[in-house]
Amino acid sequence: MTITIKPYNNESGYLCLPLVKNIPSPRHHNWKMIHCPSCGTECWMSLSAKITIKRSGGGLQGVCTECALRTGMKVSAKEG
Ligand SMILES: [Zn+2]
Repeated sequence: MTITIKPYNNESGYLCLPLVKNIPSPRHHNWKMIHCPSCGTECWMSLSAKITIKRSGGGLQGVCTECALRTGMKVSAKEG
């Protein structure tokens, strides 16, 4: 299983964080377990994700995979 941290998405402004239930043990020592700010599910914040969010200056929010997908669907539904 390959884990990819998606690059900054201008449309949604959400960074997709891997779910703890999908990846029970962190793949890097710098992964930190956080609670998704949207649904509260446990997910992993990697150091690179943290840096990306910090660089965005607040425009980017880290949410779990499920919320990122849900938000993406919501955005497309609204626009379509
Ligand atoms: Zn979530």
